[in-house]
Amino acid sequence: SREYHIVVLGAGGVGKSCLTAQFVQNVWIEAYDPTIEDSYRKQIEVDGRQCILEILDTAGTEQFSASLPLTAHPNLLTSCVKPAAMRELYMKSGQGFLLVFSITSLSSLTELHELRDQIVRIKDDERVPLVIVGNKSDLEEDRAVSRSRAFAVSQSWGNAPYYETSARRRANVDEAFVDLCRQIIRK
Ligand code: GDP
Ligand code: MG
Repeated sequence: SREYHIVVLGAGGVGKSCLTAQFVQNVWIEAYDPTIEDSYRKQIEVDGRQCILEILDTAGTEQFSASLPLTAHPNLLTSCVKPAAMRELYMKSGQGFLLVFSITSLSSLTELHELRDQIVRIKDDERVPLVIVGNKSDLEEDRAVSRSRAFAVSQSWGNAPYYETSARRRANVDEAFVDLCRQIIRK
């Protein structure tokens, strides 16, 4: 069976860790340490083929657009330089990307553009396997991003698949990961 490297990216608090925990371990974790960046392995069957997924749940992309005062960065090496270099490394080694925002936060969708640009540049591939994930679909009453707005982003990215998920309800979680896996296989 083949091994595929998947990277989960997006703003802090959108639900990357909760989605990963639901997919890998079938558990709902209400409060996850936001600083934990770790990778998980899961074997799944896609179209009759066994795949081992190595999933990296990233943390700290909020430093992308951070304009915090220097006092918030007592250690520039770990708070700034190192994450940027690491991001470049895992974008290089990643084969498929789950770009996650929260449907309750428009800025979390806007932040994905910079991430996608960087992935395309580093992979040197406009058609790099990725899915756009609008998480927290259970919070419909707090929706700040319409489906049509998300679909417009998908279209502008060469019709990247768009999934609305709820990590809390475990809705559409497998579908998003499996779609990404299929894209990698067909690559
Ligand atoms: P991360 O920083 O992107 O890894 O976000 P987390 O996975 O740590 O989740 C951040 C917060 O959002 C936590 O309080 C979670 O309980 C909450 N959360 C994550 N996914 C969902 C979801 O699908 N629905 C709701 N209602 N809350 C969620
Ligand atoms: Mg997290």
